Amino acid sequence: MSDDRRVIVIGSGPAGAMAAHELIRKGIPVTMLESSLNFENGLLVRMMGRNLYRRVPTLETGKRHTSSGDPNTDWYCSLLPGGLSNQWTGAVPRFAPEDFTEGERLHEKYCWPVTYAEMSPYYELCEKLLDITADSTDHPNMPAGYAAHQHKLPKDWQHVAKYAALRGQTLTTLPLADGPPWMFVRRGTAFNSYTNIVSKLLKSPHFEIKFGAHALQLEWSGEKKRADAVVYHDRSNGKEHRLPAAAIVIACGALNSTKLLFNSACSDFPEGMGNTAGLLGKYLHDHPREWWVFDVERPISLLAPSAYLTRIPHAESEPLIGSSWTLGVVSIKDKVMSRFAFKGKSISVQVFGTMIPTENQLVKLADEKKDEFGQPLLDICIRYTEQEVNNMIQSRERLISIMNEAGYKSTIREVAPQLRPGSSVHYGGSARMHSSPKYGVVDSWNRLYDVQNVLVCDSSCFTTAGEKNPVLTSMAIAARAAERLSEDLKKR
Ligand SMILES: Cc1cc2nc3c(=O)[nH]c(=O)nc-3n(C[C@H](O)[C@H](O)[C@H](O)COP(=O)(O)OP(=O)(O)OC[C@H]3O[C@@H](n4cnc5c(N)ncnc54)[C@H](O)[C@@H]3O)c2cc1C
Repeated sequence: MSDDRRVIVIGSGPAGAMAAHELIRKGIPVTMLESSLNFENGLLVRMMGRNLYRRVPTLETGKRHTSSGDPNTDWYCSLLPGGLSNQWTGAVPRFAPEDFTEGERLHEKYCWPVTYAEMSPYYELCEKLLDITADSTDHPNMPAGYAAHQHKLPKDWQHVAKYAALRGQTLTTLPLADGPPWMFVRRGTAFNSYTNIVSKLLKSPHFEIKFGAHALQLEWSGEKKRADAVVYHDRSNGKEHRLPAAAIVIACGALNSTKLLFNSACSDFPEGMGNTAGLLGKYLHDHPREWWVFDVERPISLLAPSAYLTRIPHAESEPLIGSSWTLGVVSIKDKVMSRFAFKGKSISVQVFGTMIPTENQLVKLADEKKDEFGQPLLDICIRYTEQEVNNMIQSRERLISIMNEAGYKSTIREVAPQLRPGSSVHYGGSARMHSSPKYGVVDSWNRLYDVQNVLVCDSSCFTTAGEKNPVLTSMAIAARAAERLSEDLKKR
C-alpha cells in the first residue's frame, strides 16, 4: 500500500474499528496496528432474545498501572483484537443533548465542542452496525436511536415508568447491542468490534491490519511540523519497526492512548506529544459503580432484557452530578422465565454515577516501574469525592421511592462497600476535547491542538462523562472525526 494518504489507526476496539470503517468508506487507505497477535475465542449462546451462556476471554488487571490516588484503583485492559468489546455487555444509550452542554453551568471548560445535533447522524451510523434491541421511542434524557429489534417493557413496569415520569425520569428498555434473538457464536459477545467491523474491512484492497504490532511511540518531524510515523514493537519477532503515515488515529482505549502520547515525548514536546498546555492526563473521569439487589412485596415481571432508568433531570441536580440505573435479572432460570412472562420478587440493579473531572484526577507516567517494553507504567491518581459517593447513596433511595410510589413496596438488601475506581471500565477524559486549547488536548475534530495530523478518538477525548455507557458515543465521535480527516486528506 503506497498511497501517501495512508492513515495508521492504532487499536481495533470499537473506537478504532469505527474510525477505520469510515476512512475506508471514504476511500482513504488504512493500516491498523493491533497489539495482540491472535483473536481469542469465547462462546455465546443466545436463545429467545436472552443471553443464556457467555464465556469471554480473561480480562487483564493490575499489570499496567500504579495507583497514587485510591489504592484500590483498578484498570481492566483487553489487549486483543476487538479490545474490551470481547467482554462488554453491549449497553449503548445515546448521550442526551444536555449531556454535551450541562457542564457549562459549572464552568466553560465543561462544555463539549460538539452538539447532540452534530452527533446524531453518526450515532445512527454506528447503531446500524451494532444490531441493537431497544424501545425506539424518544424520551427525555434517552433520545430514540435506530434499533434493529424492538422491545417494550412488560405492562407492570410500564406502570412503574409512569411514576418515574412524574419525577422527570424515563424508565425504558436498555438499548443493547445484543444481536439477533438466536445466536451460537465462538465469541463472548454479540458485538465484537473485530469480528463485526474490522474483519469485514479486510475485503477492501485499501485496508490491512498488522497483528502483534504494539505502538510504542509516534515520531514527530520538526521539519514537516507533523507526526510522520509510528514506531511499534513486533511481537512475532521482538523487533522494532517504523511505519510512515499521512495521519495517525489513536484509539488504544482511554488510558493506553494517553500513555502513548506521553511516551511520544521529543525535544519539541518534552512533556508528551500534544501536551504543550500541560493538560494531557488531567481531567480523568470514571463512573462510580454500585451493584445491589432489592426485594418487592408483590411479584413483578422478570426483566430480561434489562430496563434503564434515566438520570434526575439536569435542571434539578447539581451540575455534572447524575446517575443511571440498570435493572435486570442475573440467573439463567430467571432469564428463561422472563420469556414466558413469569414474575419474581427480587431485582438486581447496577448504578453508574458521575464524577466532576478536575485537574487533580489524572494519569501520568509512573516514576520507576516499567512495562514489558521497558516503558514506564501509568500512574492512576483518582479518588471519588464525598459529593460523588453521596450521589451513589442517594441513588439507592431514589429508585426505592419510585417503586414505593408505584405501589411496589420495596426493600433494599444490604449494600456491600464496593466503590472502587476503574470497576466500571469507563475511564475517559485524559486527552479531552474542547473548543479552546486552554482546556482541551484535542479540538472539536479530535485533532491534537499541537499536532494536527494526530487524532485521539476513544473516550479519552470526552469533555465530561455523563452517566451513560460510553461506547456508542466514542464510536460516533470516531466516525465523525474520521470523516473530517478523510476530507482534509483529500484536499491536501
Ligand atoms: C465487562 C465489561 C462490560 C462492559 N460493558 C459496557 C457496556 O455495556 N457499554 C459500554 O458502553 N461500555 C461497556 N464496557 C466498556 C467498553 O467495553 C469500553 O469502553 C470500550 O471497549 C472501549 O473501546 P475502545 O475502542 O476505546 O478501547 P478498547 O476496547 O480498550 O480497545 C483498545 C484496542 O487498542 C489495542 N491497543 C492498546 N494499546 C495498543 C498499542 N500501544 N498498540 C497497538 N494496539 C493497542 C488493544 O489491543 C485493543 O484492540 C464494558 C467493559 C467491560 C470489561
